[in-house]
Amino acid sequence: MKPLNADLHCHSTVSDGLLTPAELARRAHGNGVELLALTDHDEIGGLAEAATEAAEVGLPFVNGVEISVSWGDDQTVHIVGLGFDRDFAPLVEGLAQVRSGRDSRAHRIAAELDKVGIHDAYEGALKYAGNPALISRSHFARYIVELRHAKDVKSVFDWWLAKGKPGYVAHPWATLDDALGWITGAGGITVVAHPGRYRLSRAEMNEMLSRFKELGGVGIEVLSGSHDDEHTREYAHMARHYGFLASRGSDFHGPGESWVDLGRLPDLPEDLVPVWTRLN
Ligand code: AMP
Ligand code: MN
Ligand code: MN
Ligand code: MN
Repeated sequence: MKPLNADLHCHSTVSDGLLTPAELARRAHGNGVELLALTDHDEIGGLAEAATEAAEVGLPFVNGVEISVSWGDDQTVHIVGLGFDRDFAPLVEGLAQVRSGRDSRAHRIAAELDKVGIHDAYEGALKYAGNPALISRSHFARYIVELRHAKDVKSVFDWWLAKGKPGYVAHPWATLDDALGWITGAGGITVVAHPGRYRLSRAEMNEMLSRFKELGGVGIEVLSGSHDDEHTREYAHMARHYGFLASRGSDFHGPGESWVDLGRLPDLPEDLVPVWTRLN
């Protein structure tokens, strides 16, 4: 059977992407995507617009979200939810709660950056975010590039914003239990986003995946824009080992700011069961 060109992870202006939800749906369609999920960070406000445009161009669409979760000793993992009812009140309220922490975190990030000579970063980042509840490190990164303290967004993270760098601050996100409860309660399925990006030891990764499985987690991103071939092999192995369904998502944020464009990922290894077999 011909593999489906599914892209189940990307971002719009409703979080830290550069394209509107409608622009994203059109670009996905133009790139040959055959099933799309929009997965903004902790926010589902773009889904209606993306779904409407996707229907307009004849592109199958499922609801998505990428929830920020605190794990262990100041680690952050991202959980993608797919195919849920976007009116489910505990999900809507839970995400609002997660977003409500972003503004105060942004002020703390700005205070740290100020100490190393990057001034007015809160105002600068807010200009890119538009909304204090959506403000993310990506918006700080764009402002720092604008100030020419780094040549691109990627290097801003390396120099200023990644864990251990001057502008990093710890922050309590959702718990894994809550994130999975909201998505599963809303009739959706949960997927561990880009596992190759976490700085977890093998034992810590196994602990996280075991807990995710215990809580009813079903899938793992084997193919991600931020994975290299070795990550893909490793997480294909984890999918087999844990019996997880396999997902595929570019994590596209915008032209010129992403590892890979919408729908431009290799096919999943043939023996894995794709998550979309569980989505209508
Ligand atoms: P936040 O949710 O505010 O912590 O921001 C996290 C976002 O920053 C991620 O979703 C990515 O879009 C971006 N990001 C994180 N690390 C990097 C990196 N090393 N290079 C480029 N973008 C990154
Ligand atoms: Mn992002
Ligand atoms: Mn992520
Ligand atoms: Mn993402």
